[in-house]
Amino acid sequence: MNDKLAGLTQTQLDAHWMPYTGNRQFKRDPRIITAADGCYYTSADGRPIFDGLSGLWTCGAGHNRKDIAKAISQQLAKLDYAPAFQFGHPSSFALAERITQLMPEGLNRVFFTNSGSDAVETSLKIARAYWRKKGLASKTKLIGRSKGYHGVNFGGVSVGGIGANRAIFGPALSTSHLPHTLLSENRFSRGQPECGAHLAEALLDIIDLHDASNIAAVIIEPMAGSAGVLPPPEGYLQRLRDICEQHQILLIFDEVITAFGRLGSATGAEIFGVVPDILNTAKQLTNGVIPMGAVVVQQEIYESFLQQGGPDYQLELPHGYTYSAHPVACAAALATLDILERDNLFKRSAELAYILEDYIHQLRNLPLIYDIRNCGLAAALTIESAPGEPLLRPFLIALKMWDKGFYIRYSGNTLQLGVPFISRSEEIDGLINALAESILEVANGQ
Ligand code: PMP
Repeated sequence: MNDKLAGLTQTQLDAHWMPYTGNRQFKRDPRIITAADGCYYTSADGRPIFDGLSGLWTCGAGHNRKDIAKAISQQLAKLDYAPAFQFGHPSSFALAERITQLMPEGLNRVFFTNSGSDAVETSLKIARAYWRKKGLASKTKLIGRSKGYHGVNFGGVSVGGIGANRAIFGPALSTSHLPHTLLSENRFSRGQPECGAHLAEALLDIIDLHDASNIAAVIIEPMAGSAGVLPPPEGYLQRLRDICEQHQILLIFDEVITAFGRLGSATGAEIFGVVPDILNTAKQLTNGVIPMGAVVVQQEIYESFLQQGGPDYQLELPHGYTYSAHPVACAAALATLDILERDNLFKRSAELAYILEDYIHQLRNLPLIYDIRNCGLAAALTIESAPGEPLLRPFLIALKMWDKGFYIRYSGNTLQLGVPFISRSEEIDGLINALAESILEVANGQ
């Protein structure tokens, strides 16, 4: 019996069409996880695997947190589901208030979703409906950014800027894109690169072309995650904020990765000192334990929906999900935010970020390394492409890491790290050493 299979049959493996996975390769050589605790997974063949990406940027507080499990089971025993529309339950209101306390001033109304992708769609729809409410119905155009990732639904893919996520689906919605901020002169910057604030001026060109009277919103990740950790150049976000303000365009921060500790604070908005009109979250909100997202808007946006005429039982926003503000997800989120606060994990993440920065940049002189970037407790390497095989090397390196007992993510031509906030510095050291070995092995064709 293949001990990598956790007792699964080939027909069971074949039945599951896995997301964002090379299914042919995976089903030949599966990487199956059977348990998790703290910073470690257990693989089907019984090995501890260090969780170098906190799940998918989700589990910063570590796995198997008893307080979250307890909160979930208590909530289940009391109220397992409540209709999401027209009726409420206590945990959602408590969680909404709790989230607003962590947001920058003014972002204080919360709409719950099931995921980051849903948060994105919700934010884009709110932006367009907002301008209609204001009598500016022509403001519909949505602007994203090259290399941006905003989930997988049609709106998110349309504003997203990763070609591979769009190409096979045919035409997306009509959107425009700002240029990305990955400049070669910024290679090997530590944290925010110095160069690139001027790239925000491209928004002026888009406005020139389409006119602000037709533009609803700009959506960007303050730190782009999925494209391989692109921290914003110094001054860039502020410049975007100013242009949006001058031209009555809403600014949406997609903080699905960056909210709740990844950058050492509750939000990237706080770290970068720029407050958007709408802020999307998910992932770390429940420590990855239950799917949930949230869209936080400026009070003025919410109020403008409430100020419509008509009877007060009339819906202000015909939008929502069967599982919006699911009681069990709310319980998981409340318990997660308790842990983050009680264990001081934003601070811990900020402290560890210096260690990660230090260690990761030591890889600079290895073969195959084109660039290294870091921001908070997130880091990425760009790997030089093998001739004719642009994506092969990151994949091979990630496989070698798995064999050595480390999980990291490979995506496009990058390798991505986002260790848990509760990691120890020796564990980060071990991860980086294993990464150096794996890179050398792949460079040497081993
Ligand atoms: N936005 C951003 C910035 C993300 O990083 C992600 C997920 N990686 C999403 C949206 C989509 O979230 P989900 O996978 O929960 O739908």
